[in-house]
Amino acid sequence: MSKFVYSFGGGKADGKAQMKELLGGKGANLAEMANLGIPVPAGFTITTDVCMYYYQHGKKYPAELEQQVKLAVSKMERIMGAKFGDVENPLLVSVRSGARSSMPGMMETVLNVGLTSKTIKGVIKKTQNERFAYDAYRRLIMMYSDVVMEKAAGIEPKEGKGIRMQLEHEMAAMKREHGYTQDTDLTSEDLKKLVEIFKEKVQEVLGKSFPDDPIKQLWGGIGAVFQSWNGRRAISYRRIEGIPDEWGTAVTVQAMVFGNMGDSSATGVAFTRNPATGENKFYGEWLINAQGEDVVAGIRTPAPLNESTKNEQNKHMASLEKAMTKTYKELDKIRINLEKHYRDMLDIEFTIQEGRLWMLQCRVGKRTGTAALNMAMDMVKERLISDKEAVMRLSPNQMDELLHPIIDPAAEGKTNPIAKGLPAGPGGACGQIVFSANDAVEWAKQGKKVLLVREETNPEDVEGMRAAQGILTGRGGMTSHAALVARGWGKCCIVGCGKLDIDVRSKTMKADGTEYREGDFLTLNGTRGYVYAGELAMISASENPRFVQFMKYVDKYRTLKVRTNADTPEDAQKALDFGAQGIGLFRTEHMFYGKNSEAPLFCLRKMIVSNTEEERRRSLDELYPYVKRDIKATLEVMNGLPVTIRLLDPPLHEFVPQETEKRAELAASIGISLEELQKRADSLHETNPMMGHRGVRLGVTYPEITEMQVRAIFEASVELIKEGKKIYPEIMVPVVCTLKELDNQKLLVNKVHKEVCDKYQVKTIKYMYGTMIEIPRAALTAGKIAETAEFFSYGTNDLTQMGFGFSRDDIGGFVPAYVEKKILPADPFQILDQEGIGELIQIGIERGRGSRPGLKVGICGEHGGEPSSVGFCHRVGMDYVSCSPYRVPIARLAASQAAIKSSKAKGPTKQKTKRKK
Ligand code: PEP
Ligand code: MG
Repeated sequence: MSKFVYSFGGGKADGKAQMKELLGGKGANLAEMANLGIPVPAGFTITTDVCMYYYQHGKKYPAELEQQVKLAVSKMERIMGAKFGDVENPLLVSVRSGARSSMPGMMETVLNVGLTSKTIKGVIKKTQNERFAYDAYRRLIMMYSDVVMEKAAGIEPKEGKGIRMQLEHEMAAMKREHGYTQDTDLTSEDLKKLVEIFKEKVQEVLGKSFPDDPIKQLWGGIGAVFQSWNGRRAISYRRIEGIPDEWGTAVTVQAMVFGNMGDSSATGVAFTRNPATGENKFYGEWLINAQGEDVVAGIRTPAPLNESTKNEQNKHMASLEKAMTKTYKELDKIRINLEKHYRDMLDIEFTIQEGRLWMLQCRVGKRTGTAALNMAMDMVKERLISDKEAVMRLSPNQMDELLHPIIDPAAEGKTNPIAKGLPAGPGGACGQIVFSANDAVEWAKQGKKVLLVREETNPEDVEGMRAAQGILTGRGGMTSHAALVARGWGKCCIVGCGKLDIDVRSKTMKADGTEYREGDFLTLNGTRGYVYAGELAMISASENPRFVQFMKYVDKYRTLKVRTNADTPEDAQKALDFGAQGIGLFRTEHMFYGKNSEAPLFCLRKMIVSNTEEERRRSLDELYPYVKRDIKATLEVMNGLPVTIRLLDPPLHEFVPQETEKRAELAASIGISLEELQKRADSLHETNPMMGHRGVRLGVTYPEITEMQVRAIFEASVELIKEGKKIYPEIMVPVVCTLKELDNQKLLVNKVHKEVCDKYQVKTIKYMYGTMIEIPRAALTAGKIAETAEFFSYGTNDLTQMGFGFSRDDIGGFVPAYVEKKILPADPFQILDQEGIGELIQIGIERGRGSRPGLKVGICGEHGGEPSSVGFCHRVGMDYVSCSPYRVPIARLAASQAAIKSSKAKGPTKQKTKRKK
């Protein structure tokens, strides 16, 4: 016979903490506490299997359930010394939900089950407190009629006409009639009357009498909890949190204990350490003479648990430590035992009934990034956890939080966003809005903090983006230019905020009907993609000295290398500071945007509009010193580490100036008329530039462009080598789809290599020659491509674009809908599609290494810094991931966690065992 019911209480339990899948978090942890001898009111948990059975069998239970529940009820009765439904000595129970992972407030609970017109007499006799008994009864009717008789029965009342609301009105009317202001003013006589009024109202509204049979109430409660698994709130929460529908909820039935039985009773919630800072101090809140819900509901201001955690708001209130010293000490002891046992910070709920302490719940507590780091490091020191466990305690998202200033969560909680977009660059930013890059630069020069608001960004906005605190755009996806640049700088950025009506000309934007003008303050939460009106307080995620030590632990277990995508010496240095082990992508074209780009950009433009090879070579000669200078500066910073330099990639027409004035200047510099220049510029126009004349195709059609770049790489390298530096350049060819392209370019590389060696009188300059794999055909023909390529770097931005056939700059119009409708699990430009694009990657690695066993493989698309994608890269055997500087620590952590998970960690324990063998 299957076991559907697990009992706990009296120092033992059928279940344990590891059985969360079956018993839900609440049930499993109650069982664990009971096993530890911690005082928990006795009870039992009905498994999540029953929930699944219930839904698969037209809302019926397995045949054995009734008998098993009966037995569990008697066990609970024996332990608690009271009987469910007994007139003399009644036991009351709570019926609670509990899924595998906590879904706070999303499902239902019924308290005081078992109170009837008969059992109430026993409660009065036992407690000698008639008022308490009738208060509990009216609470039961309110909760039960709402949760069981209305919601679970599928009744959908009109707004404001729900039974709970109607009962609230009755209670309010009675209070008005007597001139009471508080619920506690109601006397026992009033409550007695109210219970009758409530019962009549239930009959009138729902057409059914309130059940006066304890067993009927119990089963009603159980059914309602199972039903609430598919309630609207629970379903949407599951969608947001990615909790599978198949998990189901367990139901825990537990003897009631009461914190509202007078001044020797109380209730509270606490964390075994401070969840915001991680400080090792017992931290929590309590209320005298109250029920559990009162603490969280915010009706009464709770008091601090102890003296050392008092704050400005609650310093005048009595702590539990002072008011009930003995009980506090007992609770503190439980806290220490629980932490020792779970080896983690816990969130606990307790009730004190007439001086006796009961634990109602414990679970691993949620915490901020700072707290997660501090706790992990403290716990290693306290020898509670190993350094390997510490690595697993900080989620990559929490690390992200540690690296950027953020909006003060307290301030954010008090307001609502005016718009939502894609969270492209994490952290928070606050400033005055401006609508042009120039204004951003000008205002910033005057010492103002600005947010750059644009319909979309283009390369010419880069200076403004640099000057702004944050960036907000109406269009674009996660890999749009704005997003890429912002992430690279660790700048807060929200893109694709489609609901914003941005008018650059009038320097205004509208959100939700409200107009915002230039100079108005906005605040961005780039981690969530939320835009707020006004100035919200920011908190600086100050560098924790423990961070460095934590990262040492991280690196100890990591096997995947982490490089960075950087195009300037400053970014390269930043990435080095964050622990980058090389550059995985130096995008040559970025030297034509931003600071000091005017002169090289002008040469590039001249080259682009050249009509003959001769003209082109002339402008390439002019451009050469700039390219060499920039490459050399970055190579120098990365002294001793590999640097992958990618040859020019984007379609050339992107760089052609749009303004007439600039076009005229360009025309004059090459001695042609403006009309002629217009003609040449127009001829560069492409319908599908992303699939047009870009990448290696430029090098094939204009070999001199490749030659110039390769020469710059070799000359920069050899000069640095001569200065005693260790330089490892890797030449990378983009947008390759066939081996022949790579071979074609290799001839040029060989030729220039020889010329530079001769010029500098060196035998050779060590380098590697490889390719991006960013076109599906390249992945499929990787075996051939690897005959020439010494390394592969997966360009998953383009590989996703070409694999899905989704233009990466135009996904705003449909990908959000795809995600909402569950056609896609996530935006594939943010989180690598392991199923499809992942298979292309795997095929490429397999075939590539098939023909070149030592083939070095990395990734340099945006996914290289996304934790789940980094895990994938580890599993498929890549050598490195490469991501923007601020993502480097996150990628290191994700790589380490992936290694620990797949137990391929190269930790000392493992090495020791190996040696012994
Ligand atoms: C890519 O396609 O993944 C890549 C890194 O190149 P880019 O984003 O510059 O096209
Ligand atoms: Mg690409």
